[in-house]
Amino acid sequence: MILDIFFPNRCIACSRIIEADLLACSLCMEQIHFTHTGYFEDSFMKQKCRLLFPVENAFALMNFEKENASRQIIHDLKYRSRKNIGKILANWTTERLDFQNEKPDLLVPVPLHPKKLKERGYNQLHLFTESLSAFYSIPFDHEAVKRNYYSKAQALKDKQHRLETKNTFSVIKEISNKHVLLIDDVFTTGNTLATIAWEILKSGNNKVSVLVMAVDL
Ligand SMILES: [Zn+2]
Repeated sequence: MILDIFFPNRCIACSRIIEADLLACSLCMEQIHFTHTGYFEDSFMKQKCRLLFPVENAFALMNFEKENASRQIIHDLKYRSRKNIGKILANWTTERLDFQNEKPDLLVPVPLHPKKLKERGYNQLHLFTESLSAFYSIPFDHEAVKRNYYSKAQALKDKQHRLETKNTFSVIKEISNKHVLLIDDVFTTGNTLATIAWEILKSGNNKVSVLVMAVDL
């Protein structure tokens, strides 16, 4: 295509010209640390989750690192309207994640507050979740959980967090007897996932596992 000549696809991290369907050049791809600990293993993230809530399994696609393309990938997905990155990350996930005979029943991404959703125009987790849903034949529900508070600044968020931890999220659809796979972009403290997990566990006889694009170690 003529557009390719004027606007060639470039590596997300180093700007080298790359093939149209790629996200990063081979050199930058090599530097990404894909986590090779399996869904069923006692990984660092699973141990961290277990301190906060009863988790079944946990999977992180890659390590979140400032020094390599992982940070740029997540940043562009969230803040530069490159929502298609979600589909590529889903492909990278399906190449590495095998649920074996413990396939979850439902995929639930962490929701944005409706006001935030309107500002950003999309939830960065939706295309990722939908692509995984199609590949593994597991239904998803973007509306099962609702975020109750909108907060602009992180400082405000931290202050609010102490006050509102108990009802930051609500489960607004009936979920019972389900193994729910919660999906988020970056795992740091695990507090957000834990808050949602407890709401899901309280709302019915459910189990919860976790899948994130990147884990900040
Ligand atoms: Zn590169």
